[in-house]
Amino acid sequence: MSPAWWNRGLLRVIQFNIEDPYGFYADAISAEDLVSLAKKAHANTLVVFARDAWGRVFYRGSRLYPRHRRARLDVAELVRAAKREGLRVVIMTDHTANRYIYRRHPGWAQRTRSGEVIVLEHYPVKEKVRDPQWPQICINSPAMESYFIPEAEEALKATDADGVLLDSFRYLPDPQRACYCRYCRLRFRLERGLDLPSVDDMEDEAFREAWEWRYHVIVDSIRRLRDTVKGTKEDAMFFYNSHPVGWAGRGTIVAERARDYLDAVFAEASETDVLTVMMLPMVTKLSQAAVGEGKPVLVSRNLFYNLRTVQSATPLAVKQGIRSIVASGGHPMATIFSSQYFEDSRAIDALAEVYEELERVEDKIVGSEPIRYMGILYSSETHEKVYWNAPHYYTSEIEGMAMIAFHRHLPYEFLSMKDIHKAGRYKVLVAAETDVLSDEEEAALEDYVERGGFLVVTHSLGRMYPDFTYRHSLAMEETLKVRYEGVFYFGYVFVDLEEAYSEYWDGLPKAVVLGDFSTAFTRERTEPRLGELVRARPVEGARVLAWGRLGRSAYGYEYTLGRSTPAPDSRLNMAAITLGGRGSGKTLYYSVRLGAHYSRLGHPDYAELLLRPLKREAPPPDAWSDAPDTVQTEFFRKGDTVGAHLVNLTFNERILSTITGPSKQSLPAYHPSYNVHPPRVLVPVGPFRVRLPRPDGERLNVYDALTGKGLDYVVDGDGVLVNIRALGEYMILIAEPRS
Ligand SMILES: [Zn+2]
Repeated sequence: MSPAWWNRGLLRVIQFNIEDPYGFYADAISAEDLVSLAKKAHANTLVVFARDAWGRVFYRGSRLYPRHRRARLDVAELVRAAKREGLRVVIMTDHTANRYIYRRHPGWAQRTRSGEVIVLEHYPVKEKVRDPQWPQICINSPAMESYFIPEAEEALKATDADGVLLDSFRYLPDPQRACYCRYCRLRFRLERGLDLPSVDDMEDEAFREAWEWRYHVIVDSIRRLRDTVKGTKEDAMFFYNSHPVGWAGRGTIVAERARDYLDAVFAEASETDVLTVMMLPMVTKLSQAAVGEGKPVLVSRNLFYNLRTVQSATPLAVKQGIRSIVASGGHPMATIFSSQYFEDSRAIDALAEVYEELERVEDKIVGSEPIRYMGILYSSETHEKVYWNAPHYYTSEIEGMAMIAFHRHLPYEFLSMKDIHKAGRYKVLVAAETDVLSDEEEAALEDYVERGGFLVVTHSLGRMYPDFTYRHSLAMEETLKVRYEGVFYFGYVFVDLEEAYSEYWDGLPKAVVLGDFSTAFTRERTEPRLGELVRARPVEGARVLAWGRLGRSAYGYEYTLGRSTPAPDSRLNMAAITLGGRGSGKTLYYSVRLGAHYSRLGHPDYAELLLRPLKREAPPPDAWSDAPDTVQTEFFRKGDTVGAHLVNLTFNERILSTITGPSKQSLPAYHPSYNVHPPRVLVPVGPFRVRLPRPDGERLNVYDALTGKGLDYVVDGDGVLVNIRALGEYMILIAEPRS
């Protein structure tokens, strides 16, 4: 059986959205226009609305909805025209924002606990919601049976499209957004025997139960729509927009829980213009871990700039964004709205350049496997059960560990806890703040170490079981070689490096500070949780590489008194960095939140706290590079061939300003607190080296797949050291046996 169409090659997608109530441009967009756009841009897949959030369809003969009055586009015609050119068309249906349903059945809308309609549009906080454009319809309401399910079938039949993309349901467990409509109240009572909670508290039975139940509602709705789609057209691709950076990260949890029902996942990544260059690799790899191996992860790069749908993003933002997605293992989806298509289509030229290039080299990269080294565990149980109301603490901890790997060119991926049985693929496994751990998962980690794995743990491991009961210890204490005695809650704490200074820490300060000021600065001066130190008492067999150390005061007196950092004081009898192990493997335990510090502050001292012991104690990676840390390096293997994507992300000063937050000192601002500058100028880098495992064969071809030009290399034991004299925007390095 040949693989499904979405698993046959690189998807080069254009998402074209006609999205305004009056159809400003809709009468000028035809099926032929979209097909020529796709051809011009070297795309192979188009994604379009079959039904918009106002509740109008872009096809003929709907029994359910009115047709868009202005739209010239008929999606059925588009599908036919696309097919003639060998293009695929995916339709978006079942958007839960639906003004048409709302106007007919206001009682079917999602409602907050106080009865206000939950909307998708951006309403000013203090405004009362009136006659919303994008009200959210509840998936527990009769809309599911009378609209959403028949809609999926109708749209697919009417258009004969190649796939269905569901937008995120935005049916969220978070108190501010959770639905309390009468259907939710009724179904919860029927299914769980409880009333929906009146308090927001994980120690409240109903709150905890409802949290879990809301995921059940989403996943069950996805399953029903999948059955409908597959029942209508078996070879239609079915996938879900998980918005990995939006909605408190809940969409990633949905993708993980619904993975058996999804053919792929769409990681909408609009936030990339306001976040670090790390964001695209992070969401691509995290979404892959969530949905599981072998399923495409589509990731968006908007063709417009930030929230400005009418203005083209810079060519560099488009090109390097798309390349970064592909290098990370994703499939790019370039999103454009109709206003930009007519008013400022410059970004399409940049897209065409990079899609043409990818089309040319597709054979070299499609079907490749990453060369593995570090696996970073993703524990959705920790995200949801411990950090349910502050998931960013967990996210920044895993992101920081990924950033260290990204900056220092260590191959890394995320590994869902569901796939813990695959841990043995990684020479290094990172359990960053994995607070929730079952006995079975603990056993799997013990086994991983026993068989020679290198396990890195930060802050806490398994303090809680999945059923919310406590271990009253860390998991794996005998292996980590520490005894857990609670947590010191300080604003700042130090890691004292003197114990093993000459061996491990030469050149670093004797004490490295952890903790930071609070950006909220409302009641507290320091950021909660950053300055915490787990009271980890070393036990027999422990090798303590660093001790905990107190600060001289709760906050600093110098410079910005109250917001600055204190000086170090005396050493504590508690370990900060401990080397342990069992069998033929080792563990490296940090009693602090190392990842969150690197993610937040990016200071190389934090990276060194991980990299120094890793270099001495862990097995070395098969592939590495000494490129500058602004080069995204992703190593891969395909059959006899090994290679690396080198995406140069060395830009002009790409300003992303932050605020220092309020205090009693505040005065009118000198300068607005908001600066978001896109990549404008690319800075070439080099020379540097890339090391790849050596392919079999006496003689090798080592070259850049984009230009075909040969590269200098030397054989280095079981590896090949390639010399990159200069890197412009992008290179795909290939080393293969010469036939
Ligand atoms: Zn509801």
